[in-house]
Amino acid sequence: MSDRSGPGVAPATSASAARTADGGEPALSLVGVTRVFGGSRAVDAVDLEIREGEFFTIVGPSGSGKSTLLRMLAGLDRPSAGDILLRGRRVNDVPANARPTAMVFQSLALFDHMSVGDNIAFALKMRGVARLERMERARALLDVVHLPAAYIDKPVTQCSGGERQRVALARALASDPEILFFDEPLSAIDNRLRKLLQVEIKELHRRTGKTFVYITHALEEAMVMSDRVALMRAGRIVQVAPPLEIYDRPTSRFVAEFMGEVNVWRAVREAGAVTLPELGLAFPSETIPAPEGFLVARPEKLALLREGGAAPATIAGTIVDEFVLGSRKQIHLRPDGAGESARERPTVFGEIPADAAAPGPGARVRLGLAFADCRFVTE
Ligand code: ADP
Ligand code: MG
Repeated sequence: MSDRSGPGVAPATSASAARTADGGEPALSLVGVTRVFGGSRAVDAVDLEIREGEFFTIVGPSGSGKSTLLRMLAGLDRPSAGDILLRGRRVNDVPANARPTAMVFQSLALFDHMSVGDNIAFALKMRGVARLERMERARALLDVVHLPAAYIDKPVTQCSGGERQRVALARALASDPEILFFDEPLSAIDNRLRKLLQVEIKELHRRTGKTFVYITHALEEAMVMSDRVALMRAGRIVQVAPPLEIYDRPTSRFVAEFMGEVNVWRAVREAGAVTLPELGLAFPSETIPAPEGFLVARPEKLALLREGGAAPATIAGTIVDEFVLGSRKQIHLRPDGAGESARERPTVFGEIPADAAAPGPGARVRLGLAFADCRFVTE
């Protein structure tokens, strides 16, 4: 049984925890970084520290300011206010090509009239590196990104989507940057190839030890690749945490709902109990640190109770829908009675085994829930 401390108040988002955790100077520090476009704040007073060697991922709804933030970090745009420090040095006004960083875009931005080798070595040419040395470096990088050496002279237009992706990656690595930025590099790629490239990018991160700052709108990508995930909303960062923590310990409903399917119930503190009015449920002898708020619980925390089985709280109802997820399936339950009104009673998301004996739509079941498996948030 898990500890009985139950769901506490979610800790405040803390960028400074990043620095104390490993002691060293952060690779990047952002202090009050803001970008205004015609009166609206695309990025709004962001404080953040990204550690040396970290795989740091930024997620958030479309338009929340992810690309704008990344462009400032890469030197492609300047903050309207605030400071960006690269290893302690203020770089607000240092252009992209003078920073030890490189960027991989979703569009890839390859030069179609050039060979693979010339694309990869482009930054080196700009720096005046001799052709022979450039091609030697390009050949080494082809190997790093798992492309055949013979590709060096191939027109980049003859490469497949996945190959072009690898060329873009090799090109970003050519100048041996300390920090790599990625803006949704895999979002235009089909699912199977995307999985493969995820593994390769993650492996590249491990092998090079460089700092990766990565934007994606694919949550599962963020979960499998990242050391930490930052969630943006309307120009602000609302939570920064390792993937499992941001999933299991969200600090708000918004974070909980953004990071995956979740139950959200209004919770009220009463004498010696926490009640969930929408479900007519009570957890006796539990408490929450505010008069009211919300309890959030992932579907996998709600277990199917067999005949005679017990749990701290049980929700009885009828299965209205189901979705198979491998060996488990998510069920949507219409809970019985006792709610404020039948219309306001929320659908309950649970997860049960997907085996032949599992009940299906129309079946009446009971789901069990422990208070300690819920998270309390006030907003
Ligand atoms: P995301 O990458 O999270 O989808 P963006 O950073 O691209 O979001 O955009 C954040 C907000 O800033 C949006 O409202 C967008 O319209 C606005 N924006 C971004 N770039 C510009 C620009 N160059 N000029 C004006 N508005 C912009
Ligand atoms: Mg974007």
